Amino acid sequence: MPSDSLESLQDLFTHELRDLYDAENQLVKALPAMSRAAQSPELKRAFDTPLRETKEQVRRIEQVFRGLGEKPSGKSCKAMQGLVAEAKELLEEDAEPAVLDAALIVAAQKVEHYEIAGYGSVCTFGRILGYDDAVETLKQTMDEEERTDELLTQIAMELNIEAETTEGSSQSDSSREMTDRPMTRTTVGSRGRSRTSSTSNRGGSSNRSSNRNGATKKQGSRRSSRARSTAQTR
Ligand code: FE
Ligand code: FE
Repeated sequence: MPSDSLESLQDLFTHELRDLYDAENQLVKALPAMSRAAQSPELKRAFDTPLRETKEQVRRIEQVFRGLGEKPSGKSCKAMQGLVAEAKELLEEDAEPAVLDAALIVAAQKVEHYEIAGYGSVCTFGRILGYDDAVETLKQTMDEEERTDELLTQIAMELNIEAETTEGSSQSDSSREMTDRPMTRTTVGSRGRSRTSSTSNRGGSSNRSSNRNGATKKQGSRRSSRARSTAQTR
């Protein structure tokens, strides 16, 4: 196991990169199941493209470590273990297909936001430390994560409405497991502006705080406009 003491920003840079490396490797294993579970062809594609990208993202981190003369292995990302475990739990639910799709989007966006926070930070650290090539490489991944997040938001705008229709019709079916109204409202929330706008603010501020640590000004302004669209309002 590589020495993991955090005595310098350099240590933190490699520590966070190792975390991302493990996180991406976990995703390579987890994404196929999410794709299989997705009902909407559009959503399936939204999992298949990131799967291809994720393999490349793993390779990019290896490339960065080669440049540093170090190895990327040796850390396990517990946060990603938790996010993947939660996604797996969803797959075991007896869910309406449209509601499950909406739930998969939530799970995927939690993953994307975790990665965006991590990549934003390592890009900032790398820039301060003068690793311009590494930053260029990592920025490519950051851009992919942001695009995926935006795409998921777009898909959610359609699928959440379907999920809400499903909820309405299953309501007359009396009791269905996944029609827990408060949960569906909050998670799926494509109607009810005031409710979703508070969700939106929360998503936005978490993005902004990751910006503070994690991105250039240019990325920051892009990201906060994305943050507004991220929380599936409109
Ligand atoms: Fe990734
Ligand atoms: Fe982690």
